[in-house]
Amino acid sequence: MNPTTYRRATSLEQALAFAGEGDRLLGGGTNLVDLMRKGVERPAALVDVTGLSDTIEATADGGLLIGAATRNAAVAAHPLVRTRFSMLARATLAGASAQIRNMATVGGNVMQRTRCLYFQDEAGSRCNKRVPGSGCDAQGGFDRYHAILGTSSACIASHPSDMCVALAALDARLHLAGPAGARTLPIVDFHRLPRDRPDLEHALAPGDMIVAIEVPPAGSGARSDYRKVRDRASYAFALVSVAAELTVRDGRVDEVRIALGGIAPKPWRALRAEQALRGGAATAEAFAAAADAELAEATPPPGAAFKVELARRTMAALLVQLSGSAA
Ligand SMILES: Cc1cc2nc3c(=O)[nH]c(=O)nc-3n(C[C@H](O)[C@H](O)[C@H](O)COP(=O)(O)OP(=O)(O)OC[C@H]3O[C@@H](n4cnc5c(N)ncnc54)[C@H](O)[C@@H]3O)c2cc1C
Ligand code: SF4
Repeated sequence: MNPTTYRRATSLEQALAFAGEGDRLLGGGTNLVDLMRKGVERPAALVDVTGLSDTIEATADGGLLIGAATRNAAVAAHPLVRTRFSMLARATLAGASAQIRNMATVGGNVMQRTRCLYFQDEAGSRCNKRVPGSGCDAQGGFDRYHAILGTSSACIASHPSDMCVALAALDARLHLAGPAGARTLPIVDFHRLPRDRPDLEHALAPGDMIVAIEVPPAGSGARSDYRKVRDRASYAFALVSVAAELTVRDGRVDEVRIALGGIAPKPWRALRAEQALRGGAATAEAFAAAADAELAEATPPPGAAFKVELARRTMAALLVQLSGSAA
């Protein structure tokens, strides 16, 4: 590893000042330090932000405000998360291992980088995300874990987070701070699609940071869950995952929010499926048709072609489960 200086921030103001001087933020280090060991990341200076807000508070309207330094394990275990937002608890628990969840922070989870093997192979592979314009060895290579929606000719990497999929379905907003001041942004608008610049991954400007995540109140009468399909029972990233919240009244879909993981370069809000479902009959046939609508424009690389059917079935099955109807 290259020499790196380390400082620990004790206040938001100090973290922003250090970041303004060029320090790179450090959460639990479970992603960043790994990439530093591999030579993919080479920060000259780190500012540890794990001493900042790690509280989870109820907001006046019944939502939650989660400090960016909150550990993933603390999110999954918190009584307010478990009782009001069990989908978020389940998605968080589905990620990584207990040891990693004890270290990893929610700010770091939102900012974690793709697990594309070629991206991580700094010494031997071409990658447009690491070195813009250099090429993409994933295309024509091992592409089982890659994306099927939202890709470009420059990059087909998928976003790895479980937690962010639930946050996207919950319409969470990120509280950001930086040289231009404080602002909030829906998480669905935070991560960028690759287009011709896969190295530009998110909406943070230099010196900016994530301060907190706000989750709005859940809809009344809504049922929700998170379902993750992976190669092993634990400790594996999603091939496909689905977070969904569904409200059915008199046999019809009153409200629905769906997000998909493992299939796109960002947590993927399934807006087409939602639109197809709202106001219609809450039946297995309607859920399957909505999944088809969402996946109609999938362009899978050969090794990930199986994900189209897998995503279709996982989404439809979860909605059937939530509706309480027979599969
Ligand atoms: C073996 C293994 C398996 C895993 N499996 C899964 C899985 O199944 N599902 C899943 O979702 N994740 C998985 N992960 C990823 C893990 O969840 C992430 O590594 C973790 O969430 C990153 O959090 P961190 O606090 O350690 O971030 P760090 O590694 O400290 O930082 C990651 C990035 O976030 C930036 N950052 C940190 N805090 C902030 C902030 N407040 N504002 C702005 N930027 C910030 C850092 O600068 C860095 O770029 C796995 C990781 C490992 C090592
Ligand atoms: S898919 Fe994206 S991250 Fe992976 S090698 Fe290609 S450009 Fe790099």
